[in-house]
Amino acid sequence: HAFLHVSGELALAQADAVDRAIAAGDGPGAGAGVGAAGAPLSPLAGVPLALKDIVVQRGVPTTAGSKILEGWRPPYDATVTTRLLDAGVVILGKTNLDEFAMGSSTENSAYGPTRNPWDLSRIPGGSGGGSAAALAAFEAPLAIGTDTGGSIRQPAAVTGTVGTKPTYGGVSRYGLIALASSLDQVGPCARTVLDTALLHEVIAGHDPRDSTSIPSPVPSVVQAVRRGQTDGIAGLRVGVVKQLRGEGYQPGVLASFDAAVATLTAAGAEIVEVDCPHFQYALAAYYLILPSECSSNLARFDAMRYGLRVGDNGIASAEEVMSKTRGQGFGAEVKRRIILGTYALSAGYFDAYYGSAQKVRTLIRRDFENAFQSADVLISPSSPVTAFPIGEKVNDPMAMYLNDLATIPGSLAGIPAMSVPSGIATDTGLPVGLQIMGPALGEEQIYRVAAAFE
Ligand code: GLN
Repeated sequence: HAFLHVSGELALAQADAVDRAIAAGDGPGAGAGVGAAGAPLSPLAGVPLALKDIVVQRGVPTTAGSKILEGWRPPYDATVTTRLLDAGVVILGKTNLDEFAMGSSTENSAYGPTRNPWDLSRIPGGSGGGSAAALAAFEAPLAIGTDTGGSIRQPAAVTGTVGTKPTYGGVSRYGLIALASSLDQVGPCARTVLDTALLHEVIAGHDPRDSTSIPSPVPSVVQAVRRGQTDGIAGLRVGVVKQLRGEGYQPGVLASFDAAVATLTAAGAEIVEVDCPHFQYALAAYYLILPSECSSNLARFDAMRYGLRVGDNGIASAEEVMSKTRGQGFGAEVKRRIILGTYALSAGYFDAYYGSAQKVRTLIRRDFENAFQSADVLISPSSPVTAFPIGEKVNDPMAMYLNDLATIPGSLAGIPAMSVPSGIATDTGLPVGLQIMGPALGEEQIYRVAAAFE
């Protein structure tokens, strides 16, 4: 159940367009593309991709995993979608996710959970479990995810795939249904580091339609991977974050992490330990900032503009229609966060909650700045645990939130971070992911290190 919608005819038409371009001699660099006239054919032309159902594609049913959007077909393409289509990438369909990307297991989807191809009784991570499962099951070689607090990296870790959260602003958010606007990032996912890098270069780059988009060149991550493969990583300083191991981490995950450190040492990297004392407050700050922003973003689902509308047959006020629609259209986790967020933002509590959380966010950013004085990249496990059984944490929000212990600090700081498979946990026999983080716009460094694990 990786896909919520399979595009069928539309995908076939895209594939045919690539075939025609190749037949017409528009090979790589030949000067005529598939989507944009005059653009060279991308190395990914004709390669199929699974698109997380929170990034819009014109005319294709889009739900964000929620009943409230059921039946909605967006009238426009996200910038990421446009770039994929222009590159000749074939979009197979839309993948399952936790409702509005809130969750770590894909069990919060209103359309039922996705299963982990490694063990069908287990979760594929979340919120982007559909994209990760599609990759791990060989249903698609490329996928798009979105990461607000770990939704690309944690699913990659528990499915043995690769995923990158770019620097905040590195990939356009235009056409991404917003969860928390100051944290949301779209990113590339694949089964190999090189494929992830190829996809990264297709989707990254400045977009005037996103006011937080960074006007800097697309990072040369493909070259960085090749450089990692040929020149290695000798002399690179790799920081192990003291706070992102130990308590709360499964023994098999820590053993795999130690093995990854040994691999990097053997490759000539210099391992240093770094101290990030404010990371202990990251989860608490995130769960104030995220609900605050999402309570505001989700106000647009008012029964008037999109999808579902309940109770407008001969009754009552607009307010009643709104409350009925939101009551039936949103799931429990979404309601929990809207309530938390409106409370944290309310007059009288704003400074105590939202204001304090923003201060913590600054301290976490400073911890990273200090750490990057002594290290070129930082590493940690991507997820504290391997894939857990479906149902195990679904009624325990705190247990679910703890899955993002390692990924949330990087999200709050807006830095680039990726997850690469680092082996199989000896205790559960399931895949483990290594998180590699870099300074803002340090994508090339993290891909170079990631190449050591391919
Ligand atoms: N699991 C985290 C949450 O529930 C992260 C979500 C995400 O990155 N979209 O908020």
